[in-house]
Amino acid sequence: MFHHVKELQFDVRVSEPDPRFARLLLEQFGGGNGELKAAMQYFTQAFTCRRAYPEKYDLLMDIATEEFSHLEIVGALITLLLDGVNPEMKNAVERSSLAHVMNGKAGKETFIHEALTNPQFLVLSGGGPTVTDSVGTPWSGNYVNANGDLSVDLRSNIAAESRAKIVYEYLMQFTDDEHVRDSLRFLMTREIAHFQMFSAALDTIQPNFPPGVLQGDPRFTHTYFNMSEDEAGRGRKGEGRTRGPWNDGQGPWDQGEWAFIDDPVRHVRETEGLTEQDILGSERSMRDVERMDQELSVQRSAEVTVSRPKRQALKF
Ligand code: MN
Ligand code: MN
Repeated sequence: MFHHVKELQFDVRVSEPDPRFARLLLEQFGGGNGELKAAMQYFTQAFTCRRAYPEKYDLLMDIATEEFSHLEIVGALITLLLDGVNPEMKNAVERSSLAHVMNGKAGKETFIHEALTNPQFLVLSGGGPTVTDSVGTPWSGNYVNANGDLSVDLRSNIAAESRAKIVYEYLMQFTDDEHVRDSLRFLMTREIAHFQMFSAALDTIQPNFPPGVLQGDPRFTHTYFNMSEDEAGRGRKGEGRTRGPWNDGQGPWDQGEWAFIDDPVRHVRETEGLTEQDILGSERSMRDVERMDQELSVQRSAEVTVSRPKRQALKF
């Protein structure tokens, strides 16, 4: 269950209203990398791992709940930055704490002009946030990635935290208000912390790659197809190729090595559309893979069924 505590997780202030920055900050309220997306993603993922990984259920629900707390902070900041947009203020400018910002009729015109960068602040939300991103696109469940495999979901979350972090960093370049920057620095830092929590949780699941149960076909797990060439055809003939640890030397998992296929067109033709290709690079045999598939299958289904009651009503 949820329980609302009437305090913000981080005490927010603003020096003065700034409708233009309020609009940018909407990105972290109802945008694709924002707090609502993070909250809904972790909340949704939690259900499928409740039985097999109860401690991960707690982790996902704790972080989801913190993200809702961040959503509350971002909503509070946007409302403060829009102070003066709400109808009361439009009717009684003189009595407002904003009088100095609005500074007479010209100031008010400027303020309304700035607020008009998002007309919805004036005519729809009454000076509060809208559940949209900064260009007015409504929030969508399509932002939520939840695939029912914890290694996949945790990697999605590590990516989501990376994106949330960099959006806060970009946002900080567009405000000089030290109070606002304090709040953004807090929110950004929590995403760094969450990144590390999800990374640590992923490490506790072993093996965690590849995702799911089935291993890759060892004929193709270690092959790099050299798909680029310049006008002179270099890249094909051994010159001008870009090599790095992603296609050269030690492969990424098991004991294999990368196999660099210089001329993929010729290779595909010579191997009858790869059907005649041998195992390249990988040290696994087809039999190794079959055995691993079976072992992992048994291990994973044991994890899922371990606490399921027999012939009883299912209890969460
Ligand atoms: Mn957050
Ligand atoms: Mn986060």
